[in-house]
Amino acid sequence: MHATMMNYPLTTHHLIARAAKLFGEIEIVSQAPDRSLVRHTYTDLYARSRALAHGLLAAGLQKGDRVATLMWNHHAHMEVYFGVPLAGGVYHTLNLRLSPEDLAHIVADAGDRYLVIDDVLLPLLAKFGPTPPFERIFVVRWTDQALPPGLLDYEGLIGAGAPAQWQPPPAHENDPIAMCYTSGTTGRPKGVVYSHRATVLHCLASALPDSLDLSVQDTLCPVVPMFHVNAWGLPFTATMVGAKQVNPGPHLQPDALLDLWVKERVNVSAGVPTIWMGIKKLVEQDPGKWPLQPGLRMVVGGSAAPESMIAAMDELGMRVIHAWGMTETTPLGSVSRLQPLHAQLPAAEQLKIRAKQGVAPPYVDMRIVDDEGREVAWDGVKIGELQVRGPWVANGYHGGVDSQDKWTTDGWFRTGDVATIDAHGYMQLTDRTKDLVKSGGEWISSVALENALMGHPDIAEAAVIAVPHPKWSERPIAVVVAKDGKQIDEAALTAYLAARFEKWWLPDAYVVRDEIPRGATGKFLKRTLREQYAGWFEGWADGTPG
Ligand code: AMP
Repeated sequence: MHATMMNYPLTTHHLIARAAKLFGEIEIVSQAPDRSLVRHTYTDLYARSRALAHGLLAAGLQKGDRVATLMWNHHAHMEVYFGVPLAGGVYHTLNLRLSPEDLAHIVADAGDRYLVIDDVLLPLLAKFGPTPPFERIFVVRWTDQALPPGLLDYEGLIGAGAPAQWQPPPAHENDPIAMCYTSGTTGRPKGVVYSHRATVLHCLASALPDSLDLSVQDTLCPVVPMFHVNAWGLPFTATMVGAKQVNPGPHLQPDALLDLWVKERVNVSAGVPTIWMGIKKLVEQDPGKWPLQPGLRMVVGGSAAPESMIAAMDELGMRVIHAWGMTETTPLGSVSRLQPLHAQLPAAEQLKIRAKQGVAPPYVDMRIVDDEGREVAWDGVKIGELQVRGPWVANGYHGGVDSQDKWTTDGWFRTGDVATIDAHGYMQLTDRTKDLVKSGGEWISSVALENALMGHPDIAEAAVIAVPHPKWSERPIAVVVAKDGKQIDEAALTAYLAARFEKWWLPDAYVVRDEIPRGATGKFLKRTLREQYAGWFEGWADGTPG
């Protein structure tokens, strides 16, 4: 017997065509670099995405070709999200904050053919050296500056638009549509490739009331950059439900965000804790200044949302919704929301639950596993490595790199996070096995810093660890041992590292010790160090000694 249902493809094409049909007049607002607001609608988004697809095909794009982006959050970036897949291509969002070495590596690894870039970000092209490795570069122009020779105007690419009868080439739901790279503990970043199907199913699960609860009633401002896991998929999810979208452009400072939210009546936003700490501080300082939408919801992920922050935001009339995810999980992997079973709990207990990373949405399976690979009981106490699987969880990296130890033989993805899960399925992260530092939502490689430090003539040993920080969630500090007869000169080490790494990677402090604790196999006991220095920034209000 066969089911008698249609095999209708789950593609993002449907989302944008439907939005234009049903929500044609709903706005997509983008903040320009000069802070003026550019207004489009879903009708425009669809027409311009089609025009982009048409233009790219005319420019020679072949199915599966990669189109890189170096852009802030705005309408043209959304056009790439929908338009490149409409042409059969794959867009690849480049993280503006990466080092030239990582950018060069990932562009080569992805095989990017074209680039779309904001004119205000053109200086970043210098990161690629004298000849950027793209066949054509299209520039989204926000200013009057002349186009550098050889670069093309994005509006010229869109040109006269796609003819009304133009149909995109046939698409399969498992076709790739997007790429995003994630940091490796050692070695270079690795590419995750999203499909139509994964993206669409992720949208459906993200919009659910017990997930992010998005609807046509909402006005959403994703502060999370569109170069971080597709801004957590929000441009797609918001388009699916027809929510008004407000894009902050390059202005991510708390006062600029608050101004924008008031002006556009934003009632849902999303970003890393660092952003919310900044917002909290300003609103606390001057509670009446920004008349925000009552019950403004703030989705927080990327790093843990501290209980104290959730409580303070409640006081200020903002509701934090804590979520967990990864580049490899598209990213939504869990959300923490209270259930009827928590209704009778005292407020402090409810807060503890909201500060957990939460419950997996439908179709994401979670388990925690001990060192021997045995499943750990869901009792909220025992810890294990968090493993997940589901239709929007990656099952490998682009090019097949580094895959052996990241996926189990029975098909689960090893997250590198360590967690408990309670009897009701609420997951809480307790640690990480990945040797990385997450500062303001961006990864810093401890191993790369250590290797560089150990190459310095004054240093015998170095261990770089992540230490909790009130503003950045974590910052790196370096524990170092001097070579016999040498002195540690912090300023000299900072200058030495500054020649090799981006400024925001540099350790905030150097702790000089006689030795670094080691385990039985001779490896540094980083966990012990992390415990010893966990209070390093305690009492610092926002990164400055208090
Ligand atoms: P990325 O792939 O850059 O999105 O980073 C994913 C990683 O960020 C996860 O594996 C966690 O280590 C961390 N992470 C994401 N969300 C949270 C959260 N809510 N709380 C704590 N850590 C988080």
